[in-house]
Amino acid sequence: MTRKPLVAGNWKLYKNLKESAELAAAVVAAHKETAAREVAVAPVFTALGKVAEVLAGSPVGLAAQDVFWETQGAFTGEVGPAQLVDIGCRYVIVGHSERRQLFGETDDNVGRKAKAVLAHRMAPIICVGETLQEREAGQAEAVVVRQLRAALAGIGAQEAARVVIAYEPVWAIGTGKTAEPRDAQEMHASVRSTLAGLWTGALAEQVRILYGGSVKPDNAVSLLSEPDIDGALVGGASLTIEAFSAIISAAKG
Ligand code: PEP
Repeated sequence: MTRKPLVAGNWKLYKNLKESAELAAAVVAAHKETAAREVAVAPVFTALGKVAEVLAGSPVGLAAQDVFWETQGAFTGEVGPAQLVDIGCRYVIVGHSERRQLFGETDDNVGRKAKAVLAHRMAPIICVGETLQEREAGQAEAVVVRQLRAALAGIGAQEAARVVIAYEPVWAIGTGKTAEPRDAQEMHASVRSTLAGLWTGALAEQVRILYGGSVKPDNAVSLLSEPDIDGALVGGASLTIEAFSAIISAAKG
């Protein structure tokens, strides 16, 4: 089974409209070899429309950084999945550790969001990962399995292949520390075996499991060479085209 790698740039709360449009145009120019990998960018909500215009007709996918699970209603300040489809999103990041840690996102909410994204024919990029404290206590795998089970509860086999998982150890995000490729591979294999238990081995083989956590041009090749690492969710290094395009080139199917 060959999974097409996905490299997604999470721009977090960075860049204004003009800067977002410029970076998106540079990503379009850099991503020509579409047979080898998929590429997506996730700008702030207010730049989604502008970036969608820049990406139109290109293979670069548009991603949102979060979503609310309801389609409409009295939910001041929220953005629902229908609005994200409407503006051109193909992917939605859900359960990012910054949402979990800073904004009280729960396992249950992550599950609702993932299901809402799938119901609207987009692909959720479901983030899971342990904190340093959890890793040091020997709980890393148990935490990741718990997060996966909660996020995927009620998601059936028909939707499984559209799910993307991002393993992002919290201690590696934005810190410059990266998991050793061997350790990341071990966790990715464990994620895949959890998926096989939830669905089937064949379906688990189709699911892309991205690594995230200080992916940079100088560590991307070794991480992305591991058999169960199917791409990267990139924060800081996705903010400059030099670094992001080097990571894109490191991902090959
Ligand atoms: C992220 O935000 O998902 C991330 C992995 O950030 P960074 O690459 O900056 O560690």
